[in-house]
Amino acid sequence: MSVEAKQETLGFQTEVKQLLNLMIHSLYSNKEIFLRELISNASDAADKLRFEALKDDSLYEDDSELKIRVEFDEKQKTITVIDNGVGMSRDEVVEHLGTIAKSGTKQFFESLTGDETKDSQLIGQFGVGFYSCFIVADKVEVTTRRAGLPRAEGVRWSSDGQSDYTIETVDRPKRGTKIVLQLKDDMDEFLNAYRLHGIITKYSDHITLPIMMDKQGEDETGEETVNKATALWTRNKKDISDEEYNEFYKHVGHDFQDPMTHVHTKVEGKLEYTSLLYIPSKAPFDLWDREQRHGVKLYVRRVFIMDDAEQLIPSWLRFVRGIVDSDDLPLNVSREILQHNKVIDSIRSGCTKRVLGLLKDMAEKDVEKYAEFWQVFGKVLKEGVIESSDHKDDLSKLFRFASTHEDGKEDQTVSLEDYVARMQEGQKAIYFVTADSHATAKNSPHLEIFNKKGIEVLLLSDPIDEWVTSHLTEFDGKPLQSVNKGALDLGDIQDEEEKKQEEQKNKDFSKLIERVKKVLDEEVKEVRITSRLTNSPACLVSDENDMGRHLEQILQASGQAIPGSKPILEINPDHPIVKKIDVESDEDLFKDWSHILFDQALLSEGGQLKDPASFVHKLNALIVSLAD
Ligand code: ADP
Ligand code: MG
Repeated sequence: MSVEAKQETLGFQTEVKQLLNLMIHSLYSNKEIFLRELISNASDAADKLRFEALKDDSLYEDDSELKIRVEFDEKQKTITVIDNGVGMSRDEVVEHLGTIAKSGTKQFFESLTGDETKDSQLIGQFGVGFYSCFIVADKVEVTTRRAGLPRAEGVRWSSDGQSDYTIETVDRPKRGTKIVLQLKDDMDEFLNAYRLHGIITKYSDHITLPIMMDKQGEDETGEETVNKATALWTRNKKDISDEEYNEFYKHVGHDFQDPMTHVHTKVEGKLEYTSLLYIPSKAPFDLWDREQRHGVKLYVRRVFIMDDAEQLIPSWLRFVRGIVDSDDLPLNVSREILQHNKVIDSIRSGCTKRVLGLLKDMAEKDVEKYAEFWQVFGKVLKEGVIESSDHKDDLSKLFRFASTHEDGKEDQTVSLEDYVARMQEGQKAIYFVTADSHATAKNSPHLEIFNKKGIEVLLLSDPIDEWVTSHLTEFDGKPLQSVNKGALDLGDIQDEEEKKQEEQKNKDFSKLIERVKKVLDEEVKEVRITSRLTNSPACLVSDENDMGRHLEQILQASGQAIPGSKPILEINPDHPIVKKIDVESDEDLFKDWSHILFDQALLSEGGQLKDPASFVHKLNALIVSLAD
């Protein structure tokens, strides 16, 4: 590889410029976090080196005591952070300090509104990182050398954080990274040992490496360690404050905000490991990104092994952040080994149970907080019942839905346990309706009979709900039953009298049914008298064993060619329109009425008309004929 000694000036990626701009303005009131970010990166760099050195200890180059040093110079107005971690090659510098390599970055920046207050909240979800040094500095110089590369392949990067940076190859005897911040004029407050000590102990006490500063005072010489420098998770729970837990979270989770809650467990016995798992308070910006990183880091006997060890936590808990430190895995464990490993399997199942337990606890003790959690992560958690049946019971208790009981309000707050507790005598099933919006679900004609009888119906409008209900088919021994599928069996809620009436009506209207069926032969499988409707003239339902109507819509919308099954048209003989049709002798008008009946039933479930113009045309013709 040839080394480019020349100095180059390169432009920042557009997203970096946006980030710099946004950050400098929005984080100005919290300037001191720049040091936390730099120390966090230095610590990550040390972790990486330690891991690489497991295979090749020559990378240590006679300097295996990893540490971080913080210096300041009052005259020059500089702050310097030095580490002897893994360092960066020239390519890595360009990649990491000139672009944002995270997946989903583009989408994130597209979601920015231009409104500073709103955007400054979003920035927290994104994580600020290295670029935060430009909050306090108007010039930053990074000198670094990748472990294992010759001293001639050092790199110097320097920028004023405006639109470009320069990079050159330099001689660098020492491995690792040195970052010099030239402070802005009004940042003198940071040129003070007490202030820096304070910031380090506040944010970086948990960092496992010693963070060194020169001793202060007239006759003091030499260095001292400013932080505790022990792995936080190895300490006793009762000795760790909430602040310490929170700061550790920000470091491992690359997040800017406090987490919602955490669970810290030491497992002893046949397997020994410690897990410290956090639930963030906001969704990470890449929650829906397929390549998103899983946030649990794996350590083996305090040595960092890998980020985002997806084997440690199922993908439906991908928002969980934290660490697992195992005593049993070999230090040279690789991703491939993790895939078929009994130790990992049992750690994963332990971690899953612990997170579910944590959520259960929150749901019981702090309903409001749990509601917040559900709003942010509910959709992800729902994937859990689809992916496997292992945790179905625990998961289904954690689910929350909108329901007609809550006046049809959109918030998802009703649990299946609540629902079951409110079931009426004789009610055999848990009823739900699925639709592609809350309003469509809530106003679905299929609910009419339920509303009349005061039977609660769950209103499901997340796209994933179709899959959830096809996997979660019962709760507490009660079947989950779609209100727009199959013949309606209201169990003992419908009394004998009503059942008889229904049969009678089917007989009384058998001729009408025949006539409508003939007209709509192409569109429907069957026409029958409804027991669902009280106000609407007609609705569509699907056969017990056919795919649900809404699922069909979703699949069709996603371009999947599915053999569409014909629906069943149910008509309400008590409705004036149906009464009118029944006595309509003009065959052409009768046809128009029948088509309108079908089309409006389709519209009210959120479906798409095959020929909307013809619907409007027919409707108008009828309105005119009525007006005559
Ligand atoms: P993050 O830490 O979330 O990855 P940052 O903006 O803090 O984002 O850092 C960007 C990248 O720059 C890091 O992932 C790392 O690859 C590199 N980097 C930053 N500081 C250092 C350092 N001191 N030593 C080695 N690499 C570093
Ligand atoms: Mg960082």
